[in-house]
Amino acid sequence: MCLFVSALLSLPMAIDAQSSYDALFLSYPVYNGDDLELKVDATGTHFRLWSPKAQDVRVNLYDNGHTGTAYKTLPMKLDAANGTWTASVPEKLYGKFYTFQIKWDGKWKDETPGVWAKAVGVNGMRAAIVNLAETDPEGWQNDKGPKTDNFSDVILYEMHHRDMSMHSSSGIANKGKFLAMTEPGTTTPEGEKTGIDHLKELGVTHVHILPSYDYNSVDETNLQKNTYNWGYDPQNYNVPEGSYSTNPSDPETRIREMKQMVKALHDAGIGVVMDVVYNHTAQNDESNFELTAPGYYHRHWDDGRYSDASGCGNETASDRQQMRDYILNSTKYWAKEFHIDGFRFDLMAIHDTETMDSVAAELKKINPSIFVYGEGWTAGDSPLAKERRALKENVSKMKDIAVFSDDLRDAVKGHYTDASDRGFATGKPGLEETVKIGIVAATPHPQVDYSKGNNSKFPYAKSPEMIVNYVSCHDDLTLTDKLRKSMAGEPEKNMLDAAKLAQTIVFTSQGTPFMFAGEEVFRDKKGVHNSYKSPDSINAIDWSNKHKYRDQFDYYKGLVALRKAHPAFRMTSAADIAKNLVFDRIDSSKTPNLISYSLKNHANGDKWEEIKVAFNGASKPQTIRIRKGNWKIVAMDGKISPEGDLGVSSGGTITLAPYSALILAKE
Ligand code: CA
Repeated sequence: MCLFVSALLSLPMAIDAQSSYDALFLSYPVYNGDDLELKVDATGTHFRLWSPKAQDVRVNLYDNGHTGTAYKTLPMKLDAANGTWTASVPEKLYGKFYTFQIKWDGKWKDETPGVWAKAVGVNGMRAAIVNLAETDPEGWQNDKGPKTDNFSDVILYEMHHRDMSMHSSSGIANKGKFLAMTEPGTTTPEGEKTGIDHLKELGVTHVHILPSYDYNSVDETNLQKNTYNWGYDPQNYNVPEGSYSTNPSDPETRIREMKQMVKALHDAGIGVVMDVVYNHTAQNDESNFELTAPGYYHRHWDDGRYSDASGCGNETASDRQQMRDYILNSTKYWAKEFHIDGFRFDLMAIHDTETMDSVAAELKKINPSIFVYGEGWTAGDSPLAKERRALKENVSKMKDIAVFSDDLRDAVKGHYTDASDRGFATGKPGLEETVKIGIVAATPHPQVDYSKGNNSKFPYAKSPEMIVNYVSCHDDLTLTDKLRKSMAGEPEKNMLDAAKLAQTIVFTSQGTPFMFAGEEVFRDKKGVHNSYKSPDSINAIDWSNKHKYRDQFDYYKGLVALRKAHPAFRMTSAADIAKNLVFDRIDSSKTPNLISYSLKNHANGDKWEEIKVAFNGASKPQTIRIRKGNWKIVAMDGKISPEGDLGVSSGGTITLAPYSALILAKE
């Protein structure tokens, strides 16, 4: 998603052996104080930049966040014991801006706001000095996110600020802004709820917002251009993105408005998870990391080139102490200052397991309800040894960290690399065992044969709380587009049915369910699979779909309600799953695309003694045999009733419609 030219690293001293980068950086003193870069107190304004090997450092002071020249430049002094350079003035410089500059190889490098700016001018080129307490919205002191005892109780809804509100049908005034989620009472022209009321109606527990820190690609001085980007091009990690604010030129506005959004969601009982992208920076040599401590924060190959496990031109070095502390302190800052309830780590396997363990442990100390999950893979090779990477396969070595399960994703709807490839839910045989891996959240289970798994060959999760299940996200085709491409030629009704089936598998599986915003209204992206910078005409959710596909929305809402009402779908230990989740014996070679299982023994304290769940992913009806008894019908033929009010069944042979799920319950 980003193209860069790699430059050879210019180091402060000659490197003899190829592998001595790490040795060199290990010799750097580190500094972990909370006064890094800026502190304002009764004695004035204090600057402290960590840059152990700089030849000189200075700080430039500005009246303006974007234009004009420095009104003053202060020399800084090195404290060799911790590698920081300091300067102070006796005044509180609220309202002013600053940049640092380091001397390297005898030359002053370009100005940088540093890596710890908490407020910036427009486009994030100069750091701003603001009094954060003045950015708190009313009632912020008492603001709290939802209490989350178990990660499996969470229902994640992944959204981008612009997608949610840009379309004219949203009825939202602050389109594309943080404030969009603070507007109650918005509707489509047909009267369907949108925005935050829509989220409340759907019932999800947490929104997972795409990158919302300050990113590089959108020109904040020209918002009329309506440039769109997902935001995976980090610039200032500790500042909200300016284009999502109503005034990016005023440093306080973006901070205040993001807090207002968090508070509005919290007031609605909804938690806020932030997508964080510490694994790479938007720029290489011109990144704030490189402009403050050259070489240190990024990894390199032995020949000095940036290594690129992110596929975006570089990767960061969490295995070095100052970078590890940076990730740790940055997430802690978001948790404390912005009341963020969870963190989704982009390309988490670029980070080492030790860093991720510290992140989870430290965040839990701030708020035990905070949870951490991420992509347990990289987008390219890394100098970091595989056993140290926070990979999906290593998730059981970590504590309180979860990973996305690509097992269920690719098996249910077909592989992401081939738009026409079908999956279990759309009639492709042979994927039953991989779907079962998703159903048991990749935990050890006596009836699951991992050797037949497509993506994983062993039960890599020792607890269901380590797994996030999903069928689609911002990456790749939306579920709707995937179904349109892979089921081309079939009536739309079949695609709607298959979408319901696919999400039923996600929402009834153990682990934590995750859905992509808008799929509850059959949202598409006009077939564009990598829409990271596509216009709003591709990315914005057309909310008039909610009326058109109201039946689809009601079904999704029913899935959410069912899961919330029934702890059997939310078991918290692998042992419970192995004991209470029992698959029926079905010969997949004779009747493919058919899975059925029971959740028994009032699993996880459920009021229902047994829940029978069955999936028919075939294009034709298939039958299963159910033990005789008094069953309530919870889901059948594309209808769902979380209370089990669709009717009763005495068991026996039951026919499942093509691409459909059956859920029965016994009290
Ligand atoms: Ca920006």
